[in-house]
Amino acid sequence: MSIAIPFLVLLVVSLAAAYHRLRLAVWVAIGATALVAAWLLGASTVASIVAGALLALAAIPLLLPAIRLPLITAPLLKFYTRILPPLSETERVALEAGTVGFEGELFSGKPDWNALLSQPKPTLREDEQAFLDGPVEELCAMVNDWEITHVRADLPPELWDFIKKNKFFGMIVPKEYGGLGFTALANHKVIQKLAAVSSVVSSTVGVPNSLGPAELLMHYGTQEQKDYYLPRLADGREVPCFGLTGPWAGSDATSIPDYGIVCMGDWNGARVVGVKLTFDKRYITLAPVASLIGLAFRMYDPDGLIGDKRDIGITLALVPRDTDGVEIGRRHFPLNSPFQNGPIHGKEVFIPLSQLIGGEAYAGKGWQMLVECLSIGRSITLPSTASGGAKMAAVVTGAYARIRKQFGLSIGRFEGVEEALARIAGNAYAASALSEASAAAVARGELPAVPSTISKYHCTEMGREAAKDAMDIHGGKGIILGPKNYLGRGWQASPIAITVEGANIMTRSLMIFGQGAILCHPWVLKEMKAATLPDPGERLREFDRNLFGHIGFAISNAVRSWWFGLTGARIGSAPGDTYTRRYYRKLNRYSAALALMADTSMLLLGGKLKFKESLSGRLGDVLSHLYIASAMLKRYEDEGRPASDQPLLAWSFHNSVHKMEIALSSALRNFPIRPVGWLLWMLVFPWGRRAQAPSDRLGHKTAALLMSPNDARDRLARGIFLTPCANNPAGRIASYLPQVVLAEPVERKFLKALKNSDIEALDFAAQLDEGVREGWITAEERKQLEALREMTIDAISVDDFEAWELRSAGYYSDRIEAARRDAA
Ligand SMILES: Cc1cc2nc3c(=O)[nH]c(=O)nc-3n(C[C@H](O)[C@H](O)[C@H](O)COP(=O)(O)OP(=O)(O)OC[C@H]3O[C@@H](n4cnc5c(N)ncnc54)[C@H](O)[C@@H]3O)c2cc1C
Repeated sequence: MSIAIPFLVLLVVSLAAAYHRLRLAVWVAIGATALVAAWLLGASTVASIVAGALLALAAIPLLLPAIRLPLITAPLLKFYTRILPPLSETERVALEAGTVGFEGELFSGKPDWNALLSQPKPTLREDEQAFLDGPVEELCAMVNDWEITHVRADLPPELWDFIKKNKFFGMIVPKEYGGLGFTALANHKVIQKLAAVSSVVSSTVGVPNSLGPAELLMHYGTQEQKDYYLPRLADGREVPCFGLTGPWAGSDATSIPDYGIVCMGDWNGARVVGVKLTFDKRYITLAPVASLIGLAFRMYDPDGLIGDKRDIGITLALVPRDTDGVEIGRRHFPLNSPFQNGPIHGKEVFIPLSQLIGGEAYAGKGWQMLVECLSIGRSITLPSTASGGAKMAAVVTGAYARIRKQFGLSIGRFEGVEEALARIAGNAYAASALSEASAAAVARGELPAVPSTISKYHCTEMGREAAKDAMDIHGGKGIILGPKNYLGRGWQASPIAITVEGANIMTRSLMIFGQGAILCHPWVLKEMKAATLPDPGERLREFDRNLFGHIGFAISNAVRSWWFGLTGARIGSAPGDTYTRRYYRKLNRYSAALALMADTSMLLLGGKLKFKESLSGRLGDVLSHLYIASAMLKRYEDEGRPASDQPLLAWSFHNSVHKMEIALSSALRNFPIRPVGWLLWMLVFPWGRRAQAPSDRLGHKTAALLMSPNDARDRLARGIFLTPCANNPAGRIASYLPQVVLAEPVERKFLKALKNSDIEALDFAAQLDEGVREGWITAEERKQLEALREMTIDAISVDDFEAWELRSAGYYSDRIEAARRDAA
């Protein structure tokens, strides 16, 4: 036994050093001391010497640069340069356009939770809150979504006026230019509230405050452009749109074939240098009503009028609608959600160089400008829209599931419905925390490239799932369209959010992990930069420093991953309260596993990893759920750790953990190099995959929260429009819940009496009369039951129409009239 002891001591010291990420020299010192101590305590002398020699053999070459640099680092640098995936210009720009916030910690394998928890709680300014309580509330009350989506296929004129007059289009425009100068958080809250009422209104308001002329001018515009356009954009004198996508360039937006040739031309009566544009764009939101088109095109200067570069690259310009050659005005019809959207064409449209965004200095920098701004818009408009929809679905479906009774019970009491209700609640809770986290990152001044893709992808997916579950629970009530239907249009529109600003399949499989692995990894970008340094000596030294940092990091993650797997992540320091501490520990575990898997994949697959989209997508899922779970824990802390939120937090957290384990195990089972997959499996899942989906008991508690008035439900509903006015059936139904709950014991008593007695009356009113006469209920209780009946009728009733009301009035009447005239 004493022979094995020195080796065991060395192993334990090495594992502990790796777990705690001790420096090499510290590991060697502790290892040597432990071996001497073991020998003094009676371990075999020969074994102690052999173990010491092993330690020295490993440590000396690593500790001495004179040996390490030429013998280890130099060959590894050569190998690395060979496997380093070539970065395209597009990828380089994308990587350089983002900042790294807390998500970087998630890639570290040992997150510094203080970096998250010390962030201030996101709060609105007074003027922002006043805007939400005033104009936003007023606008929501004015919205009649059926009129917008069916009758007019547009916003009514008074809504357009209200939106422009109250500067909804200028939320992001600074106050000195006449805008509202709102923070990203306020922008998020406004869109979230509008989205729960009408996706047409929220996208109409969202687009001018997202990636487009205003945002681009604020960052890159010349002073003259800012002075002229920003005040006009803020008060709605200009309605903007932004045209990037075309028939030949969708997801691969850099491949746009639209071009502009530098030439002389006439502009406002003068002969100036400018660009002649030819373009064919489609799907452009607000285009049919836009007065100012932001346009992306590739710029060429064949005659060398502005320099010696022929292909200048992607460039952005502002094209006034009335410029000669611009064709605009026809409409697309996106899934019965008729926000203004349509194609734009232009042939040889001349604009001066002063119409390029940022002027001539920014010619050719269009892609970089777009990518830099994209993370801002992508963090807000779509996540806020989707989370607003999910929150509304949760609150109203909870109320509906309590009010609607079948087989003598509220439908929400049936386990099948309860399961769907719990999913809605969990998705709404997670989407709400996630969308707020990405908006808060923008508000802190970050350019959250990775969180914006996570937020866009997951909020829209969770929004779609919540809409689907809400539709199922509402049955026919969700399907019959009309003014009383508050779900159908949201459900129809949910794939739009999935498709725009980076279609979701691509976002998941290419972008989340693709960008995260390089941007957030503590060493990869540094290594890549070091490997391309021009000076050979500096290159070797810098690469050496980063490479050995990286190797230590990888070993530590392997050990941490295995140890957390072995102990079920039950040990280790973590922040939080007694309820959440275990959650943080679990996240430590998956962070280590993600870092281990990421390193192994990058090392073994190199440039090929880009094409392994299944692997990249699954690792992206792990990163995403780490981020989502962190956002939920931060929200829980910011709310003051409310005990009543715990079922919601627990459901969503276990759901995330379950999804992380599925993603990790699928990635390992399908790892392209099978033996490596098996080895990693032993480190990541030493006891196998154990995380379970949220339990039925937890689902029951979570669903119950949605079906009765309580503060957790109120917190979930915060920020959506629930005022029970004429145009807001969802708000009305949600508002009935307290009275419905109060009336239930009376209803039960009355139904029991009906069942047990010999009643003559068949009609409800007559039954109530008889009930009062026979003394089963009091006169007061009768009133309560009548009110309950009224509320139930409002909740379950649907619309019907005259046949002509369902015809598309514009299409048929205009065409038929025209045909009649032609025939005559
Ligand atoms: C209602 C609406 C409004 C829009 N508004 C605007 C606007 O205002 N301005 C503007 O410029 N554009 C706008 N768009 C365009 C939108 O951004 C594009 O639709 C989107 O980028 C996808 O392009 P596509 O539709 O051509 O799909 P495609 O590029 O043909 O993609 C089809 C499918 O293939 C997947 N895919 C593609 N490449 C990959 C890959 N490498 N890996 C994995 N999957 C991949 C996608 O995820 C998608 O699922 C809008 C679109 C819609 C529908």
